[in-house]
Amino acid sequence: MTYSKQHRDLKSGTVMPAIFIGHGNPMLAMSDNPYSRAWRKLGESLPRPRAILSISAHWTTPGAVAVTAMAQPRTIHDFGGFPKRLYEQQYTAPGDPDLALEISRDMASAHIKLDHDWGLDHGSWTVLMHLFPKADIPVLQLSLDIDQDPQFHFDLGRTLSSLREKGILILGSGNMTHNLSQLSPGERPTKWALSFDEDLKQAIDAEEDQKLVHCKEENALYTMAHPSDEHYLPLLYLIAQRKTGDTLRYFNADFDLSTISMRSFILSTK
Ligand code: ZN
Repeated sequence: MTYSKQHRDLKSGTVMPAIFIGHGNPMLAMSDNPYSRAWRKLGESLPRPRAILSISAHWTTPGAVAVTAMAQPRTIHDFGGFPKRLYEQQYTAPGDPDLALEISRDMASAHIKLDHDWGLDHGSWTVLMHLFPKADIPVLQLSLDIDQDPQFHFDLGRTLSSLREKGILILGSGNMTHNLSQLSPGERPTKWALSFDEDLKQAIDAEEDQKLVHCKEENALYTMAHPSDEHYLPLLYLIAQRKTGDTLRYFNADFDLSTISMRSFILSTK
């Protein structure tokens, strides 16, 4: 189906939801657990998008921003030390080269390059296999230029928000806290993780976008919660999606392995 044909199939006035998902450890995708159950339930409630644009913590491209532009993105198993069945998992959703080209052209000021090498990393497919198990909706990934400051990511998110009106579901996949050196399986959520997660929730609830943009400088717990920035940055793209009239609903507000916040949210128009 061509891009324009799919576009015609959308009801006019449909604004796609935008979703931030805490993806946690990749094995969550392989079992029935409260997180994967919530992903499935959410997927069943969503309008059918024309395509999905996924901004995953696991694709960083210093010095440039790229969007995947292949017809059939590969499933990338970008992790080590997990059971064989995780490496055998495939998510065979198509890409949409025409849409990638359109995004790159329409948002010329963002200098988004077309990429033919990446595919779908586990920040995308471990979640999408539950949200859209049929894998029949085109998926594009957008990379993170980690040489840029947080304001750049927020501003690019704002630019991308017009895609919601074109039937594109914008997905951000990271985690609100992510420090793999501090995992404590079986323990209760750690104090610093609870505190930082609550700080983010309060800023999101109060629509204090600049507080979230400047979190690294202003919140003393940031470097504990995020020794590196890549799992935080997708959140900036998603708070930038908020439009007048959107409602925000949290889900999976809990902690995996005691320190990884799985807090997620969906923005949708009523
Ligand atoms: Zn991750």
